[in-house]
Amino acid sequence: MTPLAGFHFHFYQPPRENPWLGVVHNEWSAFPYHDWNERIAAECYRAMVAVAIEGEGGSLELVEPLTMSSFNVAPTLHHWMEVHAVDVEGSLRHEMAERSHRGDSPVMAMPAVHAILPLARPEDRRRLIAWGIADYRHRYGSDPEGMWLPETAVDEATLLDLVDAGITYTVLMPSQARRVRRAGEEWREVDQSSLDTTRAYRVVLSSGRSLRVVFGDGELSRLVAFGELLSDGNGLADRLAARAGSDGAALIVADGETYGHHHRFGDVGVAWALRRLREGHGIETSLGEWLESHDPVDEVELQPVSAWSCAHGVERWNSDCGCVTGERPGYDLAWRRPLRHALDSLRDELVERLTGALEDLVEDVPGTLTEYGRVLAGATTPVEFVRERAEGLSEEQVVRVLELVEGYRHLLYAFTSCAWFFADPADIETSIVLRYAQVAIEMVASATGEDLTEWFIDQLSGVRSALTGRAGRELWRGAVESERADAALVAAGALAEYHVHREYAHRRRGHYSYRVNGREVVVRDERTTRSTTFVGDVTTHPSRGMSVRVVGPAGEEEFDLSHLGHDVVARVGAGWLRGVGSHDYEGATDALAAELLRRPGTRDDDALLQALACAPRCVSPSGETALRRALMALVSHGLDDVRRETLGPLGRAVGLAEMFPATGTVDEFL
Ligand SMILES: [Zn+2]
Repeated sequence: MTPLAGFHFHFYQPPRENPWLGVVHNEWSAFPYHDWNERIAAECYRAMVAVAIEGEGGSLELVEPLTMSSFNVAPTLHHWMEVHAVDVEGSLRHEMAERSHRGDSPVMAMPAVHAILPLARPEDRRRLIAWGIADYRHRYGSDPEGMWLPETAVDEATLLDLVDAGITYTVLMPSQARRVRRAGEEWREVDQSSLDTTRAYRVVLSSGRSLRVVFGDGELSRLVAFGELLSDGNGLADRLAARAGSDGAALIVADGETYGHHHRFGDVGVAWALRRLREGHGIETSLGEWLESHDPVDEVELQPVSAWSCAHGVERWNSDCGCVTGERPGYDLAWRRPLRHALDSLRDELVERLTGALEDLVEDVPGTLTEYGRVLAGATTPVEFVRERAEGLSEEQVVRVLELVEGYRHLLYAFTSCAWFFADPADIETSIVLRYAQVAIEMVASATGEDLTEWFIDQLSGVRSALTGRAGRELWRGAVESERADAALVAAGALAEYHVHREYAHRRRGHYSYRVNGREVVVRDERTTRSTTFVGDVTTHPSRGMSVRVVGPAGEEEFDLSHLGHDVVARVGAGWLRGVGSHDYEGATDALAAELLRRPGTRDDDALLQALACAPRCVSPSGETALRRALMALVSHGLDDVRRETLGPLGRAVGLAEMFPATGTVDEFL
């Protein structure tokens, strides 16, 4: 007899990378952190690896919540952690490896993108599942048994695809059940208060095959996520143990970010609860382990289509059903359906073109798209992948295959569910999917010569932000134009860095690598292996600042320092202010603040200051003081309205709101 009492953590954040560059965008609203991922990693992910709580006799005891729970991590978040939170990623892998030895998998897989599977085109849905499995397999070295569904959104077709992919269980919430029966007995209608969540269930599908479902404890999960239950970890443990009884399950299922991020000290509450379950109740079971010994005898029939954060099936991601988060006066959800329609139409048009183009290059187009998950997982390189699937292709043809499959990948990323979740389409979450859609369009255009940008903008005409008055093209422009980047911009950035740092200059920037040789720079997109050669010059002028001119296949372009991107500008600034090869951003900020007190400002100072504020993962208190000093020096030189507005987000972030009053633009809502 083994009860299950404890937690399942769903870890997920929207993909915050600029999809052109693969560099994570700075978010002032997360200050002093660089962006929300950094902030949540500090507040939650690292805390959940190990929490110090009071032990016997006032000593400190380390509790490791992940080792005593089950969890899932979105592949897109995993990719971020691999680069920016290596310690967390390492702990997750270690935990998984340790427990795999015991035949107990604490981790559920996830589809590659946080998309609402019941709303996806069937081939896309199957590939999102296959790519999620490829990611899990490469990361953990085994096949997953469980798969977490984004927003727990499910219908029969989704379950059929899961079973076909070898998945044997999922976790849902009680409101998603319709009726239950014991073998040989009549069906009994249930609702979220009458469903017995202490047992596992079997869903029998129309194919005759079946899948196991475990339901989270609805009431306790809700109280943990939205109430104060975490403030008394011992009390929570006692309630869980009582619910589970001698052999049942009591599982709190919530976003992992609940612990420490949404609820300050929630990580501590979890640690207290888990220690009490282990030491006070002798319960140390995780979901995978419990399921091994609890083959379901009861059958459940699910609602035809459902999800945990919408009471109307999956309409939250398709229409104005009324479910919303982050509403503000004047909001209007009428934009949701046109956005879904625009992206679905884009999907169909692009897939028709990219599969058509792929047919001339590889033998098995559907198989190629499905297997591409191995490249995304890092199990093989892009070039090896293409060479395995097609013989005798020229280098240019290999590039075209990769542009077409990358176009498809970006298209699937454009269905990230967060885009529909909040109140207004001018919010960052909707901008993110418009950017992915645009990269998909550009990748396919590069390979086929047909550019659907204008056509797609027309499709967006019905998408209107009630809060900003922007619609269609304006909304697209707000999302895309400030972020858009190409090889010419990367070349300009490379030349600027090389100009300052010489051999100490970076050779890699997000998706791109580059080689500089005198005035020549070769930029390579590592996703598609497309290499482009540019020739350029850097000029610096005492008052006009730095500018870079590059000549490439598309002609000549000129970039000011402020257009090269925060990451490049910070590196250039550290070189200028602290010496060649330096990455001392805080020292550079101090030096800049001191200079600005002695000399008049130049055009580049604003860009430099902003970039230095964006460079560290977390600005220290002394770094923050330096930023404030530098800003006040700039203000004392006199700022026109444009410069005041540009510097506004930084000014407000460091507590100088009275010098930089909000102007009511979109980024200030974030
Ligand atoms: Zn709803």
